[in-house]
Amino acid sequence: MKTVYTFGGNADHSDPRQKDKTVTGGKGANLAEMASIGLPVPPGFTITTEECVRYLQDGADFSADLRAQVAEALTHIEKTVGKGFGDAADPLLVSVRSGARVSMPGMMDTVLNLGLNDETVAGLASASGDERFAWDSYRRFVQMYSDVVLGLDHGLFEEALEIAKEDKGYYADTEMEASDWQSLVTEYKQIVSDELGKSFPQDVTEQLWGAIRAVFDSWDSDRAKVYRRLNDIPADWGTAVNVQAMVFGNMGDTSATGVAFTRDPATGERAYYGEYLINAQGEDVVAGIRTPQYLTKAAREAANAKPLSMEEAMPDAYGQLAHVFDLLENHYRDMQDIEFTVQQGTLWMLQTRSGKRTAKAALRMAVEMVDEGLIDEETAIRRVDPMALDQLLHPTLDPDAPRNVLTSGLPASPGAASGKIVLDADTAESWAGRGEKVILVRVETSPEDIHGMHAAQGILTARGGMTSHAAVVARGMGRPCVSGASAVSIDRATKTLRIGSHELKEGDLLTLDGATGQVMAGEVPTIEPELAGDFAVLMEWADKHRRMRVRTNAETPDDCRMARQFGAEGIGLCRTEHMFFDANRISAVRQMILADDEKGRRAALEKLLPEQRKDFREIFEVMAGLPCTIRLLDPPLHEFLPHGDEEFEELANASGVGIDHLKRRAGELHEFNPMLGHRGCRLGITFPEIYEMQARAIFEAACEVAKDSGEAPVPEIMIPLVATKRELQLLKALVDKVAGEVFEETGCPVEYLVGTMIELPRAALMAGEIAEEGAFFSFGTNDLTQTTLGVSRDDAGRFLSAYVDKGIFPRDPFVSLDIDGVGQLVELAAERGRATRPGIKLGICGEHGGDPASIGFCEKVGLDYVSASPYRVPIARLAAAQASL
Ligand code: PEP
Ligand code: MG
Repeated sequence: MKTVYTFGGNADHSDPRQKDKTVTGGKGANLAEMASIGLPVPPGFTITTEECVRYLQDGADFSADLRAQVAEALTHIEKTVGKGFGDAADPLLVSVRSGARVSMPGMMDTVLNLGLNDETVAGLASASGDERFAWDSYRRFVQMYSDVVLGLDHGLFEEALEIAKEDKGYYADTEMEASDWQSLVTEYKQIVSDELGKSFPQDVTEQLWGAIRAVFDSWDSDRAKVYRRLNDIPADWGTAVNVQAMVFGNMGDTSATGVAFTRDPATGERAYYGEYLINAQGEDVVAGIRTPQYLTKAAREAANAKPLSMEEAMPDAYGQLAHVFDLLENHYRDMQDIEFTVQQGTLWMLQTRSGKRTAKAALRMAVEMVDEGLIDEETAIRRVDPMALDQLLHPTLDPDAPRNVLTSGLPASPGAASGKIVLDADTAESWAGRGEKVILVRVETSPEDIHGMHAAQGILTARGGMTSHAAVVARGMGRPCVSGASAVSIDRATKTLRIGSHELKEGDLLTLDGATGQVMAGEVPTIEPELAGDFAVLMEWADKHRRMRVRTNAETPDDCRMARQFGAEGIGLCRTEHMFFDANRISAVRQMILADDEKGRRAALEKLLPEQRKDFREIFEVMAGLPCTIRLLDPPLHEFLPHGDEEFEELANASGVGIDHLKRRAGELHEFNPMLGHRGCRLGITFPEIYEMQARAIFEAACEVAKDSGEAPVPEIMIPLVATKRELQLLKALVDKVAGEVFEETGCPVEYLVGTMIELPRAALMAGEIAEEGAFFSFGTNDLTQTTLGVSRDDAGRFLSAYVDKGIFPRDPFVSLDIDGVGQLVELAAERGRATRPGIKLGICGEHGGDPASIGFCEKVGLDYVSASPYRVPIARLAAAQASL
């Protein structure tokens, strides 16, 4: 099978496999696409992801067939550029880059300037007429190859460069002359021999295969694995390898390299956006080693910066670039993220892909592109990642609050964050693990820092531009980031930080404003997000296109109000036990639990009744006639027991019962496995008076609200943890009896339903029978996951990440539904429930109700609604619309 595809020059781009990202990766497919629409792409070839998968699985050497295909493809490059690979007179140099199906910025390896050796370097010098350039390229190559392919620490080479500069009294790399680079290459090669006991490879073919092998291996590097886990990228995709003729942005002042976006990736504004560096190679921009300059005059002026923009310094090349931007946006109908090089005045495109963007930018672009006629509403709905909305729904800094601004950097990723300063990724992870909010402060970040960036609330770097690693990764993760704050200097040894004249230490509080780039001492108050504008427009489109309803899991009037603002269409789960933990009530709850008999329990419940009635009344008022599913008490009683002598003492005083007696009662209630113990409807069966009180509070509140507001709520009373029809039958009879009593007492009957949660495998299997009693089912997929997998939802954290790493579960099954397993039970219960009671109302209220992938599954099964926590409601609305399309 063909597994090597050439592009550029007169290559044939007609095989559809070549433009299929699953085969040639994102970079390879887009290079072929750009070449085929006539854009200037240096010639090259792509080795498919299939070869990577084969290589990683078999661990075997490369096949003769692959070697033959690569040799032929190399000839294509040689012919197109008129240079020979390894030719001592005029050598072809190539880059070797990874390119997975989706972009994984900086996660995998790249080798540039490959094809240089002691002979070809002279050829490059004479062919280019630039000795310094040739030796500079060679030293870059030796360093990169030694790091990426030979596995040597790049610090060794950096140190040698620093010493060389010091010896010469140089400050910047640009002061190094040809002979200086030449001596450095000798030193670099010596380092390789010393470290490895063999010399740096001079055979260019050996170099090439070494680099290909390294790129394949980098798919399984630790940092790539972490990135895959965070971004749900399957391990079996593999990466493609792209080998491409080098073009040089470091051939003097008519050469440059840059990265650009066709629209602003932070705000979504329709304006070219990017950075470039004159006389530099691509990695210099991305690595944040030199601070790049603006692409456009307008951006430079807005930032009040001095160095000329590309538009001003290289108007011709800029003109070509702007033209390419328009072609690409029209072709892909999406914002593009582009890498380019100008070699002695000629523009070359090295990459294009759909650009990563902030949620705010994604929204704005989606809405504006519909207005521009570039895409339709459905495409706009699909364009926005529902989880990304999370970024928009969170607070920003209060503009009126005082700010003690220490310095400013670049506004690299929006949002506000406060937390304790930490100076390395491991500390960030461990502090965050114990519940602290942290801000990760680094000189610059690298892919090794990714776990710390994820653990942090925000990221601050001293160096690097808007497209530096920190900026790109933070935007992708939705973390606020301020980059290139050059006033920040870090002393890792003393764990201190200097910002201008201020000295701070690890653990001090810092606030970042990713929208302005400001860095502030202490914690600054925040304000709620703006839900109008583009957000409202997209949500309206989503609502128009979705079938499922979206409710919320909420039990306080404030949460209900918030959820309604976010568009909730009812309550899918009101966990009434949360109302029991209130400081004023817990004593009555404890008296109820520890009472010796029904009489004692009833006395305590009497105290709780008015409180519960008030809770429900407020909730019904906020929900104004929308359906409200209220679940009767669920957690094991032992969760409410007093802890420690002080609490027992308080309770003894309040109840007039002796401490020893209370302690004995508590001992009797102790359970070894409470989550599978005396909880859920089992409480209602053994202590019916508890459910009786709750039902009474619900109906009395509903009657009051119906009378007062005329907007009668429709309580949907839900019985938890049912396994059998008989449990539901008994408890439904109890609820119906209370309803009858209350309606007679108040003279105000209201409509209501009694249904159940399906959260035990037996309930799912017996759903046909259970539906004879229950008017609705709500899938409690938290418990259903726990009980189907036999994995404790409270303890799974200890081992689940290992399970995900090893590919046993594709994702944490408590976050994203195990569709293959638990999903079957949901599907089966839905079918059996409907068979008994056509039109039975079906919803989901486990955490999965706010997870886009699980919501997609709910649509497939035909559930009527999903229910999610208030902040997840917009995510669920959008995900439900995407699932409907
Ligand atoms: C569930 O089990 O999915 C559920 C929603 O109930 P809880 O999380 O309260 O157990
Ligand atoms: Mg449950």
